[in-house]
Amino acid sequence: MSSAVPVVTARRVAVIGAGAAGLVAARELRREGHDVVVFEQGKQVGGTWVYSGEVESDLLGLDPKRSIVHSSLYASLRTNLPRECMGFRDYPFRKKEGKKGRDGRRFPLHTEVLMYLQDFAAHFEIAQLVRFQTEVVFVRFAQPGKWKVTSTSPHTLPVDDIYDAVIVCNGHFVLPRLAHIPGINAWPGKQMHSHNYRTPESFQDQVVVLIGSSASAVDISRDIATVAKEVHIAARSVEDDKLGKVPGHENLWLHSMIDSVHEDGTVVFQDGNAVGADFIIHCTGYKYDFPFLETNGEVTVDDNRVGPLYKHVFPPALAPWLSFVGLPWKVVPFPLFELQSKWIAGILSNRIALPSKEEMTKDIEAFYSSLEASGTPKRYTHNLALHQWDYMNWIADQCGLPSIEEWRREMYMATSKNRVLRPESYRDEWEDDDLVLQAQQDFADYLI
Ligand code: FAD
Repeated sequence: MSSAVPVVTARRVAVIGAGAAGLVAARELRREGHDVVVFEQGKQVGGTWVYSGEVESDLLGLDPKRSIVHSSLYASLRTNLPRECMGFRDYPFRKKEGKKGRDGRRFPLHTEVLMYLQDFAAHFEIAQLVRFQTEVVFVRFAQPGKWKVTSTSPHTLPVDDIYDAVIVCNGHFVLPRLAHIPGINAWPGKQMHSHNYRTPESFQDQVVVLIGSSASAVDISRDIATVAKEVHIAARSVEDDKLGKVPGHENLWLHSMIDSVHEDGTVVFQDGNAVGADFIIHCTGYKYDFPFLETNGEVTVDDNRVGPLYKHVFPPALAPWLSFVGLPWKVVPFPLFELQSKWIAGILSNRIALPSKEEMTKDIEAFYSSLEASGTPKRYTHNLALHQWDYMNWIADQCGLPSIEEWRREMYMATSKNRVLRPESYRDEWEDDDLVLQAQQDFADYLI
């Protein structure tokens, strides 16, 4: 596939966002010889990993006029993937021995991930491509084959720029999705989304119900249980033998989903149990949101499906001039972003060929039909889970690169298993040291 088209062309490319996706996209674009501008509304690189103690003015995220805080991190967050598995393929996430402020653990605190991304940006001299405190507010077609990007910065008038291509890397853990709870309008307690959870102190002696079963729900429930009177987790598809008090905790219970809530403060679960609760925390995920993007309907978000997109990246009608890095979830994000970015950069320069619009459309239709046939809800379109390896290897092949390292896949699987086996301690106890060794041998090729 690669080298099918011999003319290599440099493009002027706008990247929206300087999180992990935007940083690696910028690196790959520049390596390929493109002219890159990265727009970043914040003051520094790192995206999600820039922790903020602030919360939004509407804790549920419903008010469109609320102040928006980009990061969803809580103060105690440690990674849920081991660092060897999590890092970019050619810039390993290694321990920085003896450096002040670093966390050398395999599953480090969030601050360590931010420092790793800062190191990455410094090593590849990416910050000089970034316009900080510059928010993209409008992206639309200009003359044929060009995009007009409008951005705003503090104390200046909006600026318009013209680009050949736009790569959207704006992250998708910002706009909350909420659970539907029968009776919620009359329920007198307080509610928030996990996006606005930072520290447990304000839950002292409270009865708290958390909805969800993601890594955040597990972490936040344990965090709050250190100070709350009672914590109850309501989750879909809990095995019967797991319902009830969570082993090792005096004040933490696992329930099936909430059935209804009532004016007297009661929360009734589908398993028949009921509690009087003060607080409900929705740990129920996020919605994709591209408030700046105007494509005349060529790209829409429908029940959290961003589409139509070829391989979660290119809308056929606008390819390759519009692309998205980072939409898939339940994945190992950084290596996946890295591969998507290499693919886009090579396509933009004509080094790698894309199929025709018709072929891409057919591929997308077949993909959507397969989801429907397997009963997969639309909102799970970008949930790759076990398919992520075939997906990444397919892109690697398009780029003429080696497949994903076998140790990385095995480490991901081993971690998932360990998380189920040792939900309280998987970050500090494991059995895959042989894979760590393999990873380290691999990393020896990169002298950083
Ligand atoms: P982001 O990091 O969100 O970056 C997007 C950037 O775009 C931001 O800097 C934002 O300011 C900027 N931006 C947005 N809109 C605009 C605009 N209009 N104009 C200009 N700039 C804009 N991944 C792991 O690998 N391991 C983990 O352990 C892990 N834990 C996680 C825990 C939580 C609570 C969350 C929320 C996520 C976690 N992730 C984890 C996933 C994480 O989101 C990804 O690893 C990755 O950091 C996402 O990068 P991104 O660049 O796609 O998005």
